[in-house]
Amino acid sequence: MKLILVGPPGAGKGTQAKLIVDKYSIPQLSTGDMLREAVANGTDVGKKAKAVMDAGNLVSDDIVNAIVSERLDQADCKNGFILDGFPRTLEQAEALSGMLSDKDMRLDKVVELKVNDEALVERVSGRYTCGNCGEGYHDTFKQPAKEGICDRCGNSQFKRRPDDNADTLRTRLMAYYKETSPLLGYYFAKGDLKSVDGMGDIGDIFNSIDNILKSA
Ligand code: ADP
Ligand code: AMP
Repeated sequence: MKLILVGPPGAGKGTQAKLIVDKYSIPQLSTGDMLREAVANGTDVGKKAKAVMDAGNLVSDDIVNAIVSERLDQADCKNGFILDGFPRTLEQAEALSGMLSDKDMRLDKVVELKVNDEALVERVSGRYTCGNCGEGYHDTFKQPAKEGICDRCGNSQFKRRPDDNADTLRTRLMAYYKETSPLLGYYFAKGDLKSVDGMGDIGDIFNSIDNILKSA
């Protein structure tokens, strides 16, 4: 299963990707996570990306395309992958198309998560993750079963993203509507796009995505 999850910041891409990983045993390729790791490790890519990410703008296509191309060459991507947060521009989509044909791979589906803008603000401002395994939580919508303890790994350290604030979210949303939303038309025209209502319960949304994947 080779899949792209597309949607604005806070739409639930990471949340749904983790459920797909559990069921289909394919890796989640989140360019946001890869870039945050590069920033944390102080690599050259991280140094170039940090200020851009803090401001909520898009990192350059060249940098992101190179990271993804390298990641797709790893053995765990052979049987499939979930791209989360990539592509984000038409140039990235074209680059991906070239990469996949060079690597003899074919995309199965592009799934769009549709969520109201007001809900995005609420979701992003309450988001936090486990500092150990990366499991996602929300102050209101998804708290650990045992307060302060990660459901997945039992860790008790959590973190919040510096760009998950109302001001930066506005810039990120603008980038989504200007740069990323044209991808919906692009993938619809290719016949790959399926849209899912991302406003419901996390489990119900997963079932809708799963039905699409079963028929891919
Ligand atoms: P994205 O990866 O698209 O930026 P996330 O998956 O990180 O979004 O979700 C953003 C926040 O919203 C997280 O705190 C997550 O727990 C929460 N969330 C995800 N899906 C839902 C949903 N269907 N209903 C309510 N909250 C959700
Ligand atoms: P995300 O974790 O997907 O919300 O991404 C966090 C930030 O990383 C974004 O606001 C961008 O600055 C950067 N980023 C992640 N993926 C991409 C991409 N495909 N293209 C450009 N920038 C990206």
